[in-house]
Amino acid sequence: MPINPAAPYDDQNVFAKILRGEIPSQEVYQDEFAYAFHDVNPQAPVHILVIPRGSYVSWDDFSAQASAEEIAGFVRAVGHVAREQGLVVRGYRMMANIGRNGGQEVAHLHVHLFGGRPLGPMIGE
Ligand code: AMP
Repeated sequence: MPINPAAPYDDQNVFAKILRGEIPSQEVYQDEFAYAFHDVNPQAPVHILVIPRGSYVSWDDFSAQASAEEIAGFVRAVGHVAREQGLVVRGYRMMANIGRNGGQEVAHLHVHLFGGRPLGPMIGE
């Protein structure tokens, strides 16, 4: 069920619980600004989610409200994870779903990193 993009941040969302260690995740990387883990329902041989530590509903919220330090730290972390996971040589796709038309299901900003095979057209169906 896509999220309501206008709703305030809900600290009971599944990624907030992962950040607090209340539910398990398969960690890939973490630093002061970001946490990365494997998607539980991978859509490609490599499917990693990178989330900011701060409480941001979506890319829209993050890009408007986060500090310059948080934005720089998060963007650096996304790039670092892709390099560290060996995705750069053959290429990869990064994606963030925002709100209803974007099909966003978890109301904590997450960037998807897909790789490990040619990924086909940008938008299916
Ligand atoms: P989105 O549609 O962009 O909101 O994507 C949400 C993603 O979160 C989906 O790819 C789910 O498979 C993934 N997901 C949901 N719950 C978990 C979880 N507990 N651990 C890892 N990934 C999850």
